[in-house]
Amino acid sequence: MNEPSVQNAHSFLEIRMESIGGLGANLAAKILSESGVLRQGWNGWYAASYGSEKKGTPVKAFIRFAPPEVEIRGTYPVDEPDVVAVFHEALLRSPSTLSGLRPGGTLVVNTKRSPDEVRRQVKRADIHIACVDALGIAHREGARLNTAMLGALCHVVPQLDPNAVRSGIEEVFSERYAHLLDANLRTFEGGLAQVREAQGTGGDASGLDKAPQSRVSPVLGYKTQWIGGAIPSAGNSVARDLSASRQGFIPALDLDACIHCAACDQVCPDACFVWESRDNGRGRVFQYLVGIDYQYCKGCQKCVVACPTHALSTIAESDAYVLEHRVAHRLHEREVNIR
Ligand code: SF4
Ligand code: SF4
Repeated sequence: MNEPSVQNAHSFLEIRMESIGGLGANLAAKILSESGVLRQGWNGWYAASYGSEKKGTPVKAFIRFAPPEVEIRGTYPVDEPDVVAVFHEALLRSPSTLSGLRPGGTLVVNTKRSPDEVRRQVKRADIHIACVDALGIAHREGARLNTAMLGALCHVVPQLDPNAVRSGIEEVFSERYAHLLDANLRTFEGGLAQVREAQGTGGDASGLDKAPQSRVSPVLGYKTQWIGGAIPSAGNSVARDLSASRQGFIPALDLDACIHCAACDQVCPDACFVWESRDNGRGRVFQYLVGIDYQYCKGCQKCVVACPTHALSTIAESDAYVLEHRVAHRLHEREVNIR
């Protein structure tokens, strides 16, 4: 039996998944933990923490493994993980994402970037960094990226048996989503095979700052909250933080193919479509679609399905594309400037 190595004072192997709602971290953690317990004979525990039900909100999933002779009695979050798996690279902007990652630990990131580029961003010389284009693999195979992340984890964590996790994926998808099984198995294999890695110094920070190893507490608690429970910073709309509101896909608009029928606008849950009144050339004023305000788009793709002319199509999210093609709602712009 391949036992979890003694990674910390409690003989645990601890993994934390950092994700946003809709990317499947909770299911990935469930598959991984069940595979360890049921197929590799370990003791194991998992839990997930998330906010509201809306897709796009931050999600953390915690997995703790121990050899069969070591009991796991605590159900506390994984604060000092051996492995952190980041499902959306924009989360790296938050210092809390790598909080507590042990010197010599492993960071797995869903990104097209190289491990050296990620290392420069996170400023950790002492950790092993593994990059996988999980979104690209999932997009090609028609699945969600969570199984690609499981493949990458099996690649970089020697204790994890790919066969055990493969069987876990087969069991979950055969029971509930049989039509997605093959795509998810291919996505898992892609993640397993397409990891790019760079070793760290295993404890020598070499002039780079280590991330603080502490649990990040919420700024507001029962003693410090605003009167009436008011939220003083209204999400990411004003700050234009494009990180946590998307799932990896966005709609692209081809205005040449658009007939301005508004079918997209009727299904969009976040009023992302921007219109302007123009003369139709025959003396009447019509509403014309001019673009998408990506600031509010969560990538649900309802508009793409609704569009009768294929003027809308699904593409992989990129900050550069969003910034270049965003058409801002003018009303909201005025409101922002007034503040
Ligand atoms: S994907 Fe389309 S329907 Fe969904 S939020 Fe974005 S613009 Fe609206
Ligand atoms: S549904 Fe398609 S054709 Fe109709 S307004 Fe929207 S983008 Fe244009």
